[in-house]
Amino acid sequence: MHPTAATTSARSDAPPERLHTRIVTVFTLIALAPLVLGAFLSLAVGIWVSRSETAAAQRQTAQLIGNLMSERWGAVIESRRNAAALLSAVESDQRPTLELLRQTCSVCQTIVLVSRSGQIVEQAGAPAPADLLTPALLARVGAGEEIISAAPAFGQLGTSLLLASPIRVGQQAPRGGLVSVIDLQALGTQALQALATGGRGYAYIVDARGRLIVAPPAAVSTLGSDISAIPLVAAALSRQPWAPPKSQVYTGLLSQRVDGAWAAMPGTGWFVLIEVPISVVNTNNWYFIGVQAVLLLITALATVLLGRRLAATITRPIEQLQRGVSRLRAGDWRQPLAVGRRDELGQLAEAFNAMANDLDAQRGELRRRDADLTQANGELQQALAEAHQASMLKSQFIATVSHELRTPLTGVLGYSDMLALGIYGDLAHDQREAIQRIYNNGQHLLELINDLLDFSKLEAGKLDLRAEVFDLRELVGDAVETCLPQAQAKRLPIELSTDPALPARLWGDPLRLRQILLNLLSNAVKFTERGQVSVRISLADRQAAAGAAALVWLLVEVDDTGIGIAPDDQELIFDAFRQIDGGYTRQSGGTGLGLAITRRLVELMGGSIALRSTPGAGSRFSAILPLRPAEAPAADN
Ligand code: ADP
Repeated sequence: MHPTAATTSARSDAPPERLHTRIVTVFTLIALAPLVLGAFLSLAVGIWVSRSETAAAQRQTAQLIGNLMSERWGAVIESRRNAAALLSAVESDQRPTLELLRQTCSVCQTIVLVSRSGQIVEQAGAPAPADLLTPALLARVGAGEEIISAAPAFGQLGTSLLLASPIRVGQQAPRGGLVSVIDLQALGTQALQALATGGRGYAYIVDARGRLIVAPPAAVSTLGSDISAIPLVAAALSRQPWAPPKSQVYTGLLSQRVDGAWAAMPGTGWFVLIEVPISVVNTNNWYFIGVQAVLLLITALATVLLGRRLAATITRPIEQLQRGVSRLRAGDWRQPLAVGRRDELGQLAEAFNAMANDLDAQRGELRRRDADLTQANGELQQALAEAHQASMLKSQFIATVSHELRTPLTGVLGYSDMLALGIYGDLAHDQREAIQRIYNNGQHLLELINDLLDFSKLEAGKLDLRAEVFDLRELVGDAVETCLPQAQAKRLPIELSTDPALPARLWGDPLRLRQILLNLLSNAVKFTERGQVSVRISLADRQAAAGAAALVWLLVEVDDTGIGIAPDDQELIFDAFRQIDGGYTRQSGGTGLGLAITRRLVELMGGSIALRSTPGAGSRFSAILPLRPAEAPAADN
């Protein structure tokens, strides 16, 4: 009924897709894509900036440590000079003074008093390494030379530096020298601790040859070793800057992955290096990433919530529309959709309601028409039944009347025949002619009544065929003979040809076969003025197709050279009471029943009839009739 109904039900098998979900998804994707991109960009920039800042801070720290170390170194030199000045006043028993001087110097390993002749007079602290206090050096010290060694020595005491100050009184010649062996590691550690990297990294110092001279506590054992292979040390030695983007992660002094910075120590040729494990450097980044992720999560949540709200504003009215349509489909036509908006969806709902109202009105109209049609149909049925009844009554009436008319007419014909034969005495010529006319008219009337009777029986389906054996040639010859007087009156020859292959005797209703032949033949004679009439009886083509000789398909053809029948009339003439308009027909008489009866009889016998005619040239009626050969009578007949 509705082509869409099938489609809808087919679609409803698939799981329903929700517009709401789709809108939320699309909205979230559209809103989040730039956010995620932005977050990644800011993360990258943030990390880069953070790395740059960290590197700058590290450089600054290294610089500070370097400066501090230089200052302390200066202070140590100054304090050694002061110590030497202090000693000048001591002339005997210097040992307690030396001890005191050593104790007050936290970075001094050993303090050695050298005589003018270059001999060690007294020393306090750990024994000084022999390779440090060479006789040549002692001679220079005894001569009153001030020596500030920048080349550290590495021994059991660690990294040692030597400071020698002359001992003199006023402007006099030097009396000897005071050598202080400085523990560089101790000096450096103090400085490094003073500016610790917040516990997040460590610092160390290398000399101009890349040897470790101040080490973080964990690497003290490697003091003095050459570490110039460490990338940062190599960069410092060749004075290459170490800052982003050139800075890189490398394996540092403590075999950790680190990033670092270096600074030159003024006045020494040494370098301070700072290394911070990369895990510590990245802590900032992780923090930054964490903040970004939380922000992104919050934004995503907000986007989804916003998307849901947006989707709801679109889909809620659509769902209302959908519910309204469902109510309509369920037959609820009153105000199907709630109109609560003034936008396009509201207008759509209004239009929908208007359409539903129109449809409802049309449905009402359809129902009324349906009721009218049902009523009209009932009346028609009634009328049809009545018409059928009337037709039956008519047929019965015609049959009864015909039958009742036939009996007295037969009497009239019998008596007129007897009168004509002179049974009731001789008649004058005029009387005989009058009797003959009565007889002829009666005969015509009888034919008419017989036709009426046959037709009404055929119409009512009450005409039964009889079955008996008959001689075909005899029957055909008899029919031709009946029409001969009529034909001779018009000087028309009737040609008869019968196929010798036809069986002589057949099984069927000879009376009705004769009636068919007579109807066709008498029409041919009636409507032909010149030329000839011919009758041909043969076997129809379908005889061969029938195969077994169960049936004989008889082809009866009646040709004439008469007035012919116009194509438009060829079908009509088989209807009852139909005659073709025209003076000739009227003048020929007849009832218009002959061909109607003929066709019905042929069809009752199981055959068919056809007509081929050319107006002015003639006509051919051909009937095909199935009959049984007399040798094989039908079991049911
Ligand atoms: P009737 O002959 O009694 O009028 P039919 O039913 O036999 O009735 O024929 C109907 C009409 O068909 C005839 O009136 C005539 O006009 C036409 N008709 C029948 N046979 C022929 C024929 N052989 N040639 C020309 N017209 C014919």
